[in-house]
Amino acid sequence: MIDIIRADITTLDVDAIVNAANSSLAGGGGVDGAIHRAAGPELAQAATRLAPCPTGDAVITPGFRLAARFVIHAVGPVWHGGTHGEAALLRRAYERSFALAAGEGSIASIAFPAISTGVYGYPKRDAAEIALEVMRAHEVRFDRVVACLFDEESVRIYQELQSGE
Ligand code: ADP
Repeated sequence: MIDIIRADITTLDVDAIVNAANSSLAGGGGVDGAIHRAAGPELAQAATRLAPCPTGDAVITPGFRLAARFVIHAVGPVWHGGTHGEAALLRRAYERSFALAAGEGSIASIAFPAISTGVYGYPKRDAAEIALEVMRAHEVRFDRVVACLFDEESVRIYQELQSGE
């Protein structure tokens, strides 16, 4: 079962947190800014060495000052109305994050924010359907898979989808 919680993802004691990054990997607003502030400047140094990261892909770095040992920086799509491959790109961002987590070997718990649903404008319910589908496909390989949401509306949407509504 996917663990649906409302929290600031930077506070979670999990092996890896996923960042809703942009291609530059240098930090930005929203959850990206919060993660970079909490991890310290080493995070941008480590991440930008791996930049640019194309949309739909992800990279992994240490978590530095975070409780999480790793940050997986996933680049979700900007919403352009849904006809520009957004769904496939969002799915790939989640899939690539799981592939990196599995490949690292020591990651048993992982938390995801609602990638692309902030500044990038992806409709929350459509994004949540994709997120939960990919998370369910991979959860057996992990002790804990967390959907870490920041607003009450997202929590409600994820819970509705989880309960089959
Ligand atoms: P994007 O550019 O991919 O849309 P945003 O950071 O703007 O990324 O928003 C993605 C989601 O992360 C939004 O639902 C936003 O409410 C949420 N968010 C913002 N700050 C945090 C945080 N500290 N922890 C978890 N989620 C957060």
